[in-house]
Amino acid sequence: MSSEPCFIQSCAQSYYAPAGTRALCKKHFLDFITWRRKKGGAAMFKKYSAMTMEERDPTVDEWGKTITMKDYSESK
Ligand SMILES: [Zn+2]
Repeated sequence: MSSEPCFIQSCAQSYYAPAGTRALCKKHFLDFITWRRKKGGAAMFKKYSAMTMEERDPTVDEWGKTITMKDYSESK
């Protein structure tokens, strides 16, 4: 379980905490929390808390796409 790599493919860190059923390193987990808060505020937080792990995956995937694009543009 703890040997699982970060869900973000460009990231070399190992698993820290789950976001949905995806595994994220500490940095990306905090990034995800920040993104979620910016995106939907308290309403999103409540909605997310009530979701099942399976329902959270698309949210994590959506964020994952923004991270991949951001990392890509920053490395250029
Ligand atoms: Zn990571």
